Amino acid sequence: EELPSDSNTDNSRRQVFEAAHSYVIPRIPSKPQLIHTSEEMAYNLGITANDIYNQEFLDIFSGSKIHPKTKPYAMAYAGHQFGNWAGQLGDGRAINLFEVEHNTKRWALQLKGAGETPYSRQGDGLAVLRSSIREYLCSEAMHHLGVPTTRVLSVVLSGDDVLRDMLYDGNADYEKGAIVCRVAPSFIRFGNFELFAARKDHKNLKLLTDYTIRYFYPELGKPSKGTYIKFFQEVANKTLDMIIHWQRVGFVHGVMNTDNMSILGLTIDYGPYGWLEGFDFGWTPNTTDRQNKRYRYGNQPNIGLWNLLQLANALYPLVDDPEPFETILKNYQKDFEIKSLNMMRSKLGLLVEEENDMKLMADLEDCLLLSETDMTIFFRLLSNYKKGKPENGLDMIKEAFYKIDDIKDELLLEQWKGWFLAYDQRLQREALTDHQRQANMDLVNPKYVLRNYMAQLAIDNADKGNYKLIDELFELLKKPYDDQPNYQKWFAKRPEWARHKVGCSM
Ligand code: AMP
Ligand code: MG
Ligand code: MG
Repeated sequence: EELPSDSNTDNSRRQVFEAAHSYVIPRIPSKPQLIHTSEEMAYNLGITANDIYNQEFLDIFSGSKIHPKTKPYAMAYAGHQFGNWAGQLGDGRAINLFEVEHNTKRWALQLKGAGETPYSRQGDGLAVLRSSIREYLCSEAMHHLGVPTTRVLSVVLSGDDVLRDMLYDGNADYEKGAIVCRVAPSFIRFGNFELFAARKDHKNLKLLTDYTIRYFYPELGKPSKGTYIKFFQEVANKTLDMIIHWQRVGFVHGVMNTDNMSILGLTIDYGPYGWLEGFDFGWTPNTTDRQNKRYRYGNQPNIGLWNLLQLANALYPLVDDPEPFETILKNYQKDFEIKSLNMMRSKLGLLVEEENDMKLMADLEDCLLLSETDMTIFFRLLSNYKKGKPENGLDMIKEAFYKIDDIKDELLLEQWKGWFLAYDQRLQREALTDHQRQANMDLVNPKYVLRNYMAQLAIDNADKGNYKLIDELFELLKKPYDDQPNYQKWFAKRPEWARHKVGCSM
């Protein structure tokens, strides 16, 4: 559809003042081809199974055509990147199409990789097949793991080649271009608030905050200083809960810049993310962050707090009193300790709260790290543990070790045996049967996660035009907590060939 001629659509790069967004037109792809669709997401939007295979679906979700009476736009936001103020960023390669209200729910739909916008800076506004498949598979996997996240509707091949530097050899290379349709109640980020605050545009800061509360936090009530404080408290709670989920399943986001922090506490922007294989608080999947490891696994809760501090600074002009913000930030730390401990208890199948549990967990974390233990496999196997049989513990979980030989290290063996003794003593003070404990543990310790090499295999196949593995992983990851005997091959450690391969971000 042609836009009306009075439309002020303009994709040229620029600083955009006193506006929350700019109207833009998606780029028309050369030869769009549908690769995969989330039927569940389509259903949520009121799109029928038949509609998915209509030309109109492909036209709209490839950016070829604009839905009648809609005006696509890119959002303006700023942010702190790797701890530094980065100024105006904005949707450089995301274009919001429209919102859908269905079954009393509200969804915003956006295309990622549909071309340049005023916020593209030096980028091209495009996305490659590799990163699109990674985002597509991971966001649905996260949803089914019970982690708050943005969702996806579709992934489409654009038919255009995109120039990218492959991170592992530094050489320029062309890759296939693709477009993902992302879906969320809203894509508003901490950075949207930071942009207006930095420009002292308090009028729009208030408009944005009131809008966010009215549509996404309506239970907080009418705009007032008190409401803004409650709003910040709610965002802090949701952010912390999201990060505790990440820690539980071993997800490392990799780029927790404030422009990648959803105001709804959703996991957003699947770039160089990764899944812990060997348990290690120091691990980060982001190859550009290997020096400081700012966004390493163990640091995610702290970064959440740091990012909330930036949001507090942005909201401050609406309240004019630092104290309530400081109190909330202080409580975040206490809440984190309590929630993190409870999360770890649930992973170990403990219901009773004991003061010494912290030590039990710290000792376990040492063992896991020292023996290079696969986190997912370890916790899943641990649910087979039988009370009163600590001598069987090690045998039960040894499949989770990357170097089976480590198990011959005498000191490490003693450490593990000591831990199983302590765990067994601890279980003696729990009322559940082995069977009940196992059922509880298997609800919080996933059997299947999207390991980096799995995504890579799907990408390699897709690059050759074979999309079967995308579908297989998509189906597998819908039920990450179930035993799926047909998919036993995906309950396995990362193969050796994949040890040093890391997913790339762009
Ligand atoms: P990210 O690190 O993915 O969160 O991106 C940071 C900023 O760079 C955001 O404003 C993105 O929209 C923008 N950006 C990332 N990749 C591209 C690209 N290929 N073209 C234009 N803008 C991009
Ligand atoms: Mg981003
Ligand atoms: Mg990104």
